[in-house]
Parts: sequence; structure tokens; C-alpha cells
Amino acid sequence: MNKEKSVRKLILIDLDKTLIDRNYKTTLPEAHLATFFTEVQGVGVTIGISSDSAIGTIEDFARRCSIRGPIIAENGSLVSTLAKPGIFEKNMPGKNFFPKLRGVLSEKLHDKTTVVIIGNANPLAVLLKGSNYNLGVVDTIILINGYRQASISFFVIKKTRGVWKSTNGSMEKVLEAVKEIAIANLGIYYDECCFDINPEYGICIIRKKGMQKSSAIPRIKRKYPGYRIFVIGDSMGDFYDVEGITHCAVSNASREFKKRCQLVAKKPYSKGVVELIGEIVKQ
Ligand SMILES: [Mg+2]
Repeated sequence: MNKEKSVRKLILIDLDKTLIDRNYKTTLPEAHLATFFTEVQGVGVTIGISSDSAIGTIEDFARRCSIRGPIIAENGSLVSTLAKPGIFEKNMPGKNFFPKLRGVLSEKLHDKTTVVIIGNANPLAVLLKGSNYNLGVVDTIILINGYRQASISFFVIKKTRGVWKSTNGSMEKVLEAVKEIAIANLGIYYDECCFDINPEYGICIIRKKGMQKSSAIPRIKRKYPGYRIFVIGDSMGDFYDVEGITHCAVSNASREFKKRCQLVAKKPYSKGVVELIGEIVKQ
């Protein structure tokens, strides 16, 4: 790797279905990635993560993989860095709006047949889906992510013919109740929110309208002036539509996103990320 390159580079990597697979695991061993990222950062390339996940979840990945650059969390709502922990950009309606709503939801949604769990929702969802655990009369589990600050995400998992799974029908039913609770309890900010449903993951995310990963770019540019910014991702959510950003896709990315990319990897997930960073370092 060439230390003499004059333009400094910042690479922002997406997590879901880019660095990690559907089971929230890297597809190369974390120790291997940590060695690779340490080497690349050693020649002056800055590596960060830009994800829809909660800041704590991203920080955990960053630490385990030795990624030391900026962290953009909850779809551009929060910006932080491991070197200097603490959020330096927040973009959300009202103070504590989402944590407050999360508390109200957990109180109001549970009943005889529905259990609400607040905590580390992603691994719990992976554990539950496809299993046949017997929870007696309980046939619906709502898993709310306990770490988000500028949004709320929840899985709805329902026992259907003996197996726990996410279905559109069960999500719609819970979403109706969630909307009623949100309007009744936190009316004035309701119109500022949107409800994103991802049927593939069986998850709903409530966030401020208009938030996207690129919302964090002005702050990132102030913090990293003159850097050439590269984005590595898998979907149109990773298309920043900001001048001067080079978009790169892992091989498992959507066709639509690949069409917008200057670099497309031959390999998927973590291996594709390593392949693309190798190309970027050479440029
Ligand atoms: Mg993704």
C-alpha cells in the first residue's frame, strides 16, 4: 500500500447485508477483518460505519473489527466516533421523544397473548424465528430495540402453525395499535414521523421523516475536510446522492444500487468489502 497518496480517503461501510449477513454475522472471521482494517488505517485511510442500527450496536462491531473512524447511526440521525465517544450530531423530533414512546408502547402493547421485550432485539429475533418454543397461551412476541435514541424499531413474531415467524398480517395488526398509541400519547410529534416496514426482516422502524444516511454528510465533511468519500453498501439506502461521493457495491447488492456504483465487487458481504477496499486503496 502506498503511503504517498495525497488525497485522503474516508470509507463508510454499511452493516446489514454489506459487512454482515442476514444473521448479523460477518462472513469473514472478525479477527481477519480487524487485521485487515488495522493495516488499511495504518496507511492513512479512514474507515467508518454508516448504518441504520443503534449506535451501541455499531460501536460494538467497530470495536471488534478495529474500525476507528466515524460512526453514522440510525440512518443519519446520530454521528459519533469511537476515538472520541459521545454523540456530536443529533437529528430527531423533540427531546427524548423516541425513548418515551418506547416506554409507553411496552406498557400498552402487552396482554394475555402478547409479550413485549425491550432489549437486544436482533439476536433474539434470529433465535426465535423458525423455532417452536412453547410459550403457553402467548402467540405474539414484540421485540423492541432498547438501544435506539432517534428512532424505534420492533419485530413482530407470531406463532403460526406451531412455528414462530414474521408475517405481514401480524405486523399490520400491531402497527395499527402502535399508531393509535403514538397519536394518543405524543400527538404533536406524530406528523414528523414515518413508519418504514421491512417485510424481509419482519421489522418496523419509526423515525423522523426524511432521515437518510446522507443527512449526516454535511457534519462528516466538516469533520473530514478535503477527504474523498467512498460508500460501500448493498441497497438504494446506501445511495447518498451527494456530489463527489464514490459509491461501491458488494456482489449481493440490489441491481438498482449496482447501476449507480462506480465499483462493484465480485464477492459478497465481508469478502466484497475487503475486495472493494483493496481497490479503493490502489486508486
Ligand atoms: Mg444494507
